[in-house]
Amino acid sequence: MSYDKVEVPEEGEAIEFDGESLSVPDNPIIPIIYGDGIGVDVAPAAQNVLEAAANATGHDISWMRVYAGERAQEEYGEGTHLPDDTVSAFEEFHVGIKGPLTTPVGAGFRSLNVALRKELDLYANVRPTYHLDGVPSPVKNPEQMDMVSFRENTEDVYAGIEWEAGTDEVQEVREFVEQEMGFDETIHDGPVGIGIKPITEFGTKRLVRRAIDYAIEHDRDSVTLVHKGNIMKFTEGAFRDWGYEVAREEYGENVITEDTLWEERDGEAPEDAVVVNDRIADNMLQQILTRTDEYDILALPNLNGDYLSDACGAQIGGLGIAPGANFGEGRCLAEPVHGSAPKYAGQDKVNPSAMILSGRLMLEYLGWDEAADLVRDAVEETISSKQVTYDIHRQIEGGEKVATSEFAEAIVENIEQLA
Ligand code: NAD
Repeated sequence: MSYDKVEVPEEGEAIEFDGESLSVPDNPIIPIIYGDGIGVDVAPAAQNVLEAAANATGHDISWMRVYAGERAQEEYGEGTHLPDDTVSAFEEFHVGIKGPLTTPVGAGFRSLNVALRKELDLYANVRPTYHLDGVPSPVKNPEQMDMVSFRENTEDVYAGIEWEAGTDEVQEVREFVEQEMGFDETIHDGPVGIGIKPITEFGTKRLVRRAIDYAIEHDRDSVTLVHKGNIMKFTEGAFRDWGYEVAREEYGENVITEDTLWEERDGEAPEDAVVVNDRIADNMLQQILTRTDEYDILALPNLNGDYLSDACGAQIGGLGIAPGANFGEGRCLAEPVHGSAPKYAGQDKVNPSAMILSGRLMLEYLGWDEAADLVRDAVEETISSKQVTYDIHRQIEGGEKVATSEFAEAIVENIEQLA
């Protein structure tokens, strides 16, 4: 592959994917986007920590810096937010990491995050939410939270099929819906914006499969399909039905649905089986607070996933901590849940834990479990010792408030001690 304005590092090798599994060299080339706003603070901090964990476990990382967002415009010219170089690098090297990218609300370009996920077909956004010792939380028992949400990443109302009020297009869609489809008394008179919510069998099933596979591999007890099928019967209801189809038809005795469990086994799950159940999304937002320890893996359509995983994240310490990664076939792009927080940009102030722990997911995907565990333990150790960034410092008694880069250095020191 040839690149216009970025360079492939001379040292390091490409990760290969043969359609089934990855082959990961000891020193893989990993593309990284620093991102907008606080990306310039958290991305180098994460690089520092991830490299230290890789080195401590017999590996290395050759970073390949690529661009998106504001910095891409500086490098590639006005109007180029997502250069071909960047998409090609993630395609060629399979595994990468990115900081946050700014998306203007309303007018302007579509979300770069959404564009990247679509271009690379990163169909599952995975967000583990677990509590680290010492992290302040608004709930009494944050340690009960240990969920992983699998959010569908390519469809639903995020598909971008929408029309602006006042345009000829929206008028055409309105006339079709009212006159051809018979919804003639449904939409109020006057200006209207209209969007379409596609939920496909293909998109649902590959997401649910991934969630169930994860539950089996990680010895988890349940997968919960979270939907609003009571109201949106043919989209969210279909998500539930197709999800159950996967559970019933593809896993034999390894997976059992909640209704079968009660009908045939009096609620007693076979040992080692994963139970698949479903919950209505609004109820689920209560359950994560009131019955936190009853849930394990969540599988959700795009919008529910966005809301619910942020709510889960709040219970374990908020945006400075919450990690995530996007997965496709043979692909992983790790990214923190938080955005570009422009008012803190470049101040060496914010918490890099979310980006570092997102990088941990990337290390796991590489099969570098020892390095991944070191990262988690070292972050936990650093926070427990109360050397923390401002967001955590203001919520705890005592402790030392440190800069983003100092916090990362403290984690590196802990990695070296723990290794
Ligand atoms: P945000 O996550 O950028 O910031 C909200 C607030 O959360 C900040 O003001 C800050 O108080 C806190 N915060 C966020 N990250 C933190 C960190 N690492 N350490 C400490 N505190 C932190 O959300 P926003 O203000 O709604 O969005 C800003 C921009 O980011 C928007 O353009 C939005 O579209 C974009 N965004 C991008 C992504 C992404 O790239 N994946 C995700 C969410 C939002």
